[in-house]
Amino acid sequence: MSKPQFARILYKISGEALMGNQSFGIDPDMVSRVVDDIAAARDLGASIALVVGGGNIFRGVALASKGADRVTGDHMGMLAIVMNALSLRMEFEKRGVAATVLSGLAVPQVCETFTQRGLIEARDRGDVIIFAGGTGNPYFTSDTAAALRAAEFGAEAIFKGTQVDGIYSADPKKDPGAKRYDHLAHDDLLEQQLGIMDASAVALARDNSIDLVVFSIHEKGELARVLCGGGTFTLVNTPKSKK
Ligand code: UDP
Repeated sequence: MSKPQFARILYKISGEALMGNQSFGIDPDMVSRVVDDIAAARDLGASIALVVGGGNIFRGVALASKGADRVTGDHMGMLAIVMNALSLRMEFEKRGVAATVLSGLAVPQVCETFTQRGLIEARDRGDVIIFAGGTGNPYFTSDTAAALRAAEFGAEAIFKGTQVDGIYSADPKKDPGAKRYDHLAHDDLLEQQLGIMDASAVALARDNSIDLVVFSIHEKGELARVLCGGGTFTLVNTPKSKK
């Protein structure tokens, strides 16, 4: 059997990944697919926690662009993230896998509020941990939440499933001449403004020696393949001497 290249990872799932072919909301078949992929990667022996986004339901900035209050919009976005996290938890529990949702935004009647102690307890129980509610603060994104929770979880890498199989110099769906990278440093993303993650997330990952691994969510089983160094992906890391 192939061996994971990382013992502990944070898997960032965008809200859009749970939409499947729909234009909005949660597609149960897609949630099931995503959970199949995570189960296969866990079977390899890796410890995996998830950060999910909410863009399939709501983004605060979209409301703000129509003149409404950004902070309230962001609260709505974080509640959307909690909804996605609950759908993932349900899917794990359907399969008899214990999963704990830890939310940065307190919604105590539906899930546990994030604390470092709660995280350690869930990790020691061997639960799948689903970090929800973003950072709990407006003006942030779930990518920044991914970098923050990865550091708190002690993850060696953030795995980010996207629409394409890695990081390109431009959007390959719009520019057929776009170059695909196999390997980059964190600072390359910042300097070349490769918009794969927001700058605060990249800087937080860099400063905490957390690698980024970007691959396609559309290939079934790709998470496990990439975890073992196969498949197609872009690796972002920074040698210690450059920090
Ligand atoms: N959000 C926020 N603070 C956070 C994370 C998210 O206010 O720490 C809100 C923000 O409105 C954002 C929405 O939640 O637009 C959904 O998150 P995001 O857009 O990052 O989701 P994704 O693109 O991963 O689906």
